Amino acid sequence: MIKQVGRTVINPKHLATCHCGAVVLELDLPDGIVDPRRCNCSICRRKGAIVASVPLSGIRIIKGQEVLRLYQFNTMTAKHYFCSICGIYTHHQRRSNPEQYGYNVGCLEGVNPFEIENVPMNDGVNHPADRGAS
Ligand SMILES: [Zn+2]
Repeated sequence: MIKQVGRTVINPKHLATCHCGAVVLELDLPDGIVDPRRCNCSICRRKGAIVASVPLSGIRIIKGQEVLRLYQFNTMTAKHYFCSICGIYTHHQRRSNPEQYGYNVGCLEGVNPFEIENVPMNDGVNHPADRGAS
């Protein structure tokens, strides 16, 4: 877990915004940024975002619910949300753990994700739910 990025201290309640500001999320981050990682799956490799984890109760949409769009593919389990105005991915409900959201660390107010060192890569190409699938 990461409590500070550069000069930005991660607040227990931290705001996250899309690029245009239409979408504002409030995240509960009592432990800071938990489990930040990149992922090589088909959608994450295109987004390129560093994603961290919160429980479902840890995100509240305080602005922009009406402009958030949902994208689903393949098993249609995960729910990927993005701003329909600026196109920025904000958060998604995970397939590997539907009790969790992943969120875009780059959306956190004041956080430059490039200041986080040694972000591990998650092997999403070999997703556990895909094993045995043709
Ligand atoms: Zn936006």
